[in-house]
Amino acid sequence: MRWSVTIGRFGGTAVKVHATFLLFLAWIWFSALFQEGAAAAWRSILFVFLLFVCVTLHEFGHIVAARRYGVHTPEVTLLPIGGVASLERIPEKPSQELAVAIAGPMVNVVIAIVLFAIIGRIDPDAAARLDDPHISLIARLAAANLALVIFNLIPAFPMDGGRVLRALLAMRFGAARATQIAASIGQAFAFALGFLGLFGNPLLIFIAIFVYVAAAGEAQMAGLKDAVRGLAVQDAMETRFTAIPAGARVADAVQILLATGQDEFPVVDGAGRPLGVLVRDDIIAALGRNDNEMAVSDLALKPAVTVNPTAGLEAAVDRLAPSRDAALCVVDPSGRLVGLFTRQSLTEIMMIKSAQPGWRPRRPIVS
Ligand SMILES: [Zn+2]
Repeated sequence: MRWSVTIGRFGGTAVKVHATFLLFLAWIWFSALFQEGAAAAWRSILFVFLLFVCVTLHEFGHIVAARRYGVHTPEVTLLPIGGVASLERIPEKPSQELAVAIAGPMVNVVIAIVLFAIIGRIDPDAAARLDDPHISLIARLAAANLALVIFNLIPAFPMDGGRVLRALLAMRFGAARATQIAASIGQAFAFALGFLGLFGNPLLIFIAIFVYVAAAGEAQMAGLKDAVRGLAVQDAMETRFTAIPAGARVADAVQILLATGQDEFPVVDGAGRPLGVLVRDDIIAALGRNDNEMAVSDLALKPAVTVNPTAGLEAAVDRLAPSRDAALCVVDPSGRLVGLFTRQSLTEIMMIKSAQPGWRPRRPIVS
């Protein structure tokens, strides 16, 4: 995610903080400062900090559960509205998705139980007055963890409850239909939430918009997968593209960049096998460093993610999804590059499919 800084790394997952989260902390500090003075401001910050430690542990609940199914998580980002763990993919099996979705809130249940055990009683007052500094920090933190559980189990995307709902629906209706139903429920929920927000709680309106957009995104992703079902990578890949030879210099790459409309350039060895992918920004950055005479193979290339021409497009979409400027290198059995599969390819096939849902490709010639 843009505008975020890495604050640590645990078991292969980078923990990042988004700039808006820092603004959020500043806002909390200032509003407490003007209301109750500096000491209260620092107490508020401490509370929010501990709360977000709990949020991070929640995300690691998802991450650890996902790892059991072989799914890795490159990063988790903290936003004012919570944490976002960017799992490489969501496990396809509904039972596994259910386990991954529920693992996060379960972490907060455990934290709440431990904290309530420490203070020796359940304090319902604390839940209603989370910002009241006269209630003990631990009691407020315990109540906040319970609130997190309830909030996350709301059956709407992108909350965990939405995923639990989708997984349960998928067991009966199949993945695509389940996502559509779950997204509709989520959007209906967003409307209700936004409506409630009109009666004096602007935060609810903010959450409602967020939920609505996330649900639309999920539904779009499901529609996309539906559209490409049954197609192979070779049906959608770009076959007319320019590759950069490994021995080329940055100055040559700049010429290629100008001469083509491509954003991603595979770098190939003498046998036409992909060594990595160079994106437009990398070439421009090298130019900015005055590295014109440097060989492109010495630049930090993005690893070449290879895929078979006959592989299913659905799986390729999944592999394309996590990274923004990704291109999959389509290689024949000898490892030679025969095509590129990019976001552009995906957009084009989606446009064709929406204009003519029954369209079938004439197979391109893959030698
Ligand atoms: Zn969660």
